Amino acid sequence: MYEKLISESLKAKRFSHSPYSKFRVGVALLTNKGKIYYGANVECSSYSLTICAERVAAVKAITDRQKKFKAVAISSDSSEFAFPCGACRQFLSEFSDNMDVILVKSKTKYQIYKLQNLFPHKFKLK
Ligand SMILES: [Zn+2]
Repeated sequence: MYEKLISESLKAKRFSHSPYSKFRVGVALLTNKGKIYYGANVECSSYSLTICAERVAAVKAITDRQKKFKAVAISSDSSEFAFPCGACRQFLSEFSDNMDVILVKSKTKYQIYKLQNLFPHKFKLK
């Protein structure tokens, strides 16, 4: 079902700017309209300014007026599945808390979660 998205997330790691951690993350974000946006982590020498791959892809989609997401595939160089951080869970849930989150190790090794199961109590203004 998500074969293309999974392989695209693996390719997206090459866009990572991670000279400090050497930890590359690649993301492929699928909108409800079937468009894919790519993201990779972008590090900064002032570490707290680093932006996660998930939010890079989401911001690209949102500023392209694509605000409903079907799924996000996340790959990294880790030997473990890389879950999205808390900030990215909150950020993505703002737009599509029912989306699928696919953690990718390889084209054949992946796990699929519902975002609302990973982040059941998002912050809301109302
Ligand atoms: Zn994050």
